[in-house]
Amino acid sequence: MSASPRYWIETFGCQMNVHDSQRMEDALVSHGWVAADGEQDADLIVFNTCSVREKAEHKLRSEVGRLRPLKRSRPDLVVAVAGCVAQQEGEKLLSSIRHVDVVVGPDNLAELPVLADTIRMGAPPVARTVFDVDKPTFLVASPSAERGVTAYVTTMKGCDERCSFCVVPYTRGPERYRSMDEIVAEVSALVSRGVREVTLLGQTVNSWMPPDAIDASTSSHDQSPSMRASTSDFAVLLRAIAREVPGLGRLRYTSPHPRHLIPELIDAHAELPVLARHLHLPVQSGSNRLLKRMIRRYTREAYLERVNALRARVPGLTLSTDIIVGFPGETDDDFQETLSLVREAGFVAAFGFKFSPRPFTPALKLADDVPEEVKDARLAALFAAVEEQQKRHLESLVGSEVEVLVEGESRPSQTRVAKIPTRVMGRSERNEIVHLDVAEGRDPSPLVGRFFRARVVRANAHSLQGELREDDVRDLPLATEKPKGRRSLQILAES
Ligand code: SF4
Repeated sequence: MSASPRYWIETFGCQMNVHDSQRMEDALVSHGWVAADGEQDADLIVFNTCSVREKAEHKLRSEVGRLRPLKRSRPDLVVAVAGCVAQQEGEKLLSSIRHVDVVVGPDNLAELPVLADTIRMGAPPVARTVFDVDKPTFLVASPSAERGVTAYVTTMKGCDERCSFCVVPYTRGPERYRSMDEIVAEVSALVSRGVREVTLLGQTVNSWMPPDAIDASTSSHDQSPSMRASTSDFAVLLRAIAREVPGLGRLRYTSPHPRHLIPELIDAHAELPVLARHLHLPVQSGSNRLLKRMIRRYTREAYLERVNALRARVPGLTLSTDIIVGFPGETDDDFQETLSLVREAGFVAAFGFKFSPRPFTPALKLADDVPEEVKDARLAALFAAVEEQQKRHLESLVGSEVEVLVEGESRPSQTRVAKIPTRVMGRSERNEIVHLDVAEGRDPSPLVGRFFRARVVRANAHSLQGELREDDVRDLPLATEKPKGRRSLQILAES
């Protein structure tokens, strides 16, 4: 057995959590930890948790409970719960699940290696769930980490919206923004290490503003919608990245809030070729009555007006969304309005969820009055509607050309036993998954990280099959230099 202690991380939930888990790994590795092959040979097991849905929280509790016999046989094993459930429950988790040693909130992840070491030295269980409101820190990728050709970059954390169903403002705290210099520097550093596509991350990513723009005497909670209505700092950030990191091939962001999709941001989409022609724009419901109960602060008409304006400026742009079914008080008519909005907006993908009451949220005061079987039926109808649109969309692309960033080899189909040719996969500028056959005997690895034109020859259930045109490639300069005046990246946290 190696002298270095070993960690194992299980991640639940959103892309923000995936990103946080990678940063926890970086922190552990820089403190001398190495990755375990599985739970059985780990000295530290971390559950990075999600509390947005009740189901995810239940799953976490059963996963942690499953470890009880292992912990009993190996008392030196450190069990940690990180992320949103950790923040929501804090010290209560230590008493409700007795074999948990460390509880660490999203703003305290960099402390995990030290907390784990102190437990290994015999310290009692500990909970750290303190928001860094006064001096926010942002975890950045370790320069040595191998992450492939796509990467996430955090722009902000927390959320100042108060959607009535959502626990995130409670578990992630108020909005805090990272400086433009730090964001551009991290994108540039990633590109110099071979990353070709970056996704900017934030709970309401397009509400980003420079941290120094917030008056010291005014909390960001006080920024009214109207104050932000005419200018988009986020559009300025996108332009700065496009200008200063020419080696970046594609830029995406998630998740934007519809009320910050204003004309200046739409202009950026129309004018910056680096921006993907796809947007994931959560709508949640198509009924104005429910949007009001959800405190989403836009109407169905305003949502459609904005996506139509975006589509008019960026032809061919695809849209995906998040939708909640069975919100308290949702009638059949409300749900029909959601389905009609799905058709009108032409979503080609959607994450659908059944409403579940979450602690500390305003919707707790509303009766959870839509029966479970009705929620199930509405979710199935929603998925059927979106699937039908996705199918039509994919079929409409057969015969056309797409640009594919090759991310790696396609996973072989589980159901096929015959020898199949080597295939690589990537995503198009509109976010379709595209598989490409590679000539027999050809090493596919030199294709990875390059943008190829491909002709679409077939629509699969959820992806496209394309014909690779190896001579039609868009190669980009690597950003080997930091933009002038930028600070270099630190390994763990920057303030
Ligand atoms: S915008 Fe609404 S749904 Fe999104 S994180 Fe904030 S409160 Fe939650």
